Amino acid sequence: EGLLPTVTLSLAMATQRMAKRNALIRHLPAVETLGCATVICTDKTGTLTENRMAVSTVYLGGTMVTPLDIQRQPELVRTHRRFFEDALLCHNLKEAHVAGHWQVLGDPMEIALVHMAKTCLGETTSYPKINEIPFDTDRKRLSTVHQAPQGIALYCKGALEMLLPLCSQVQTATGVVPFTAELRQDFVTAQETMASKGLRVLAFAWKSLEEPHNLQGQERDLILCSLVGLEDPPRPEVPKAIQQCRSAGIKVIMVTGDHPHTALAIGRQIGQIQSDNPVVITGDKLRKLSETQLRLVLDAPDIIFARVGADQKMRIVAALQKKQHIVAVTGDGVNDAPALKLADIGIAMGISGTDVAKEAADMVLLDDNFSSIIAAIEEGRAVYANIRKFLAYILTSNIPEIVPYLAFALLKIPLPLTIIQILAVDLGTDMLPALGLGVEKPESDSMDKPPRPRQERLLDWSLLGRAYLFLGLMEAVAAMSAYFIVLHTGGWQWGDMLASNANLYLEATTACFSAIIVTQIMNVFLCKTPGRSLFSAPLLDNHLILWGIALEITLLVLIDYTQWGNLVFGTAPLAPEIWLMILPFALGMLLLEELRKFIVAENCRKR
Ligand code: ADP
Ligand code: MG
Repeated sequence: EGLLPTVTLSLAMATQRMAKRNALIRHLPAVETLGCATVICTDKTGTLTENRMAVSTVYLGGTMVTPLDIQRQPELVRTHRRFFEDALLCHNLKEAHVAGHWQVLGDPMEIALVHMAKTCLGETTSYPKINEIPFDTDRKRLSTVHQAPQGIALYCKGALEMLLPLCSQVQTATGVVPFTAELRQDFVTAQETMASKGLRVLAFAWKSLEEPHNLQGQERDLILCSLVGLEDPPRPEVPKAIQQCRSAGIKVIMVTGDHPHTALAIGRQIGQIQSDNPVVITGDKLRKLSETQLRLVLDAPDIIFARVGADQKMRIVAALQKKQHIVAVTGDGVNDAPALKLADIGIAMGISGTDVAKEAADMVLLDDNFSSIIAAIEEGRAVYANIRKFLAYILTSNIPEIVPYLAFALLKIPLPLTIIQILAVDLGTDMLPALGLGVEKPESDSMDKPPRPRQERLLDWSLLGRAYLFLGLMEAVAAMSAYFIVLHTGGWQWGDMLASNANLYLEATTACFSAIIVTQIMNVFLCKTPGRSLFSAPLLDNHLILWGIALEITLLVLIDYTQWGNLVFGTAPLAPEIWLMILPFALGMLLLEELRKFIVAENCRKR
């Protein structure tokens, strides 16, 4: 009876704890799935890194300069004016009135570029935007069209690989020249140098336009003007989270739209990549891999997917699932929605994510932070462990409830436990402590074990055996002994019949009932630490359990010692000696269970 509300409540309470750790659950069962995640496919920008961008290097007219160098050399700005206009204008930022002052909202990378351009240009003239071709993860570039004083111009910025085929000329220190293979190689090398330092590299290009309103096929014959390297430091808490994933047997795969060198540099900084020759697969390479090849590649310990499009994320997820992995995947864009839906756990970004991504996800990260995923997985594992804890607890009391009926039928003795008393245990005294077990905090070693196999049953033989044949049997012995001891001291002889309102009978059944509750109080603590000694963990840290026990004792006193309780539950007040006789049974349970845990632990150690 208590199972359904307890399971639901324990899931719901877990979502509360997860929300406190910045993981918002949208589908209740996802809590439990999280606990068996074996792979996390994660974005880089904003999830592993801070998404606090700053321009650190600019490749301008064939040399690398810093923003400070540019400010010191006004002739650089004059020669490359179009580049600075590009950085200033080509963006999707919005100005909004927030808390009394104007604030720029949007992609931090674009904010950093505008900031750099404003400082270098020393002015903020803005040419009105009249058209645009938006950015998406497949195009990897953004083009905007502006009404400049010299005429209409198209400004484009994006990944160098995407811009190179569109450019026919280059802005050099001495003017605009046609593209040569040599110049092309210079740009590619410059990008690789910057990316190897972990910088996010962006290329800039522009052209004059005659027809601003038909942009079909206009992104060609552009003039490539420069590259910018932006610094985006890894989040400080991420290396530890990655380390936790390793010890918890969860594989982390980076899936990013960024350059492979940038991805690799960040991967090394955060410890996701540890081997000397990791597998780095670009979107182009991935397109050429067959299903079988992809699945083989996924066996490598350290993998990065770079320059991938959104559709490819889905392919990676599907391939991992074919390999029996339980896949968690992060996403923010509209294009990520199919991958989020397909994954076992779709995770959307709360800050940078689109509504479409959030709608498709099972979980939303309020702070976009990778380490919040790990916190959620820890809670997910705790939920599973907790459901097993309270299952053990509530199943145990089935045995002392059944044995009296078997004894009644087989031994022809007066019925030791009445139906209403069983209900008092199942729907009354057992409920709150069971709920308490359902909200236990994660055990300290819960992230040192590999994920449990998905086919593992919540209710397995070891749990049933422990609850029914060990704990339950001990409770039954306690309950039946209490019953017979009271009967015998009251002068009852084997075979005697007793009226259902005879005082001796009422006292005996009360003793049986009370013994079950006393041993169940001990049992809460035994079930709290299923894998290790009771004394190795804090005993009184869970308030709900303590309240549960307080309520249990109050109910017991009301049932045993008030007129109303006696009437409804068919009980009679017990003499103090009877309590003294019940208590050793509870202590015996503790001793035997500690002995069992010790033997199991010793066996594990020997193996
Ligand atoms: P990430 O996995 O780092 O979030 P994205 O898919 O956002 O990757 O970006 C992929 C590439 O697209 C970037 O490396 C960059 O070259 C380009 N890019 C990203 N944002 C913009 C933007 N706002 N405008 C132009 N190009 C962009
Ligand atoms: Mg992005």
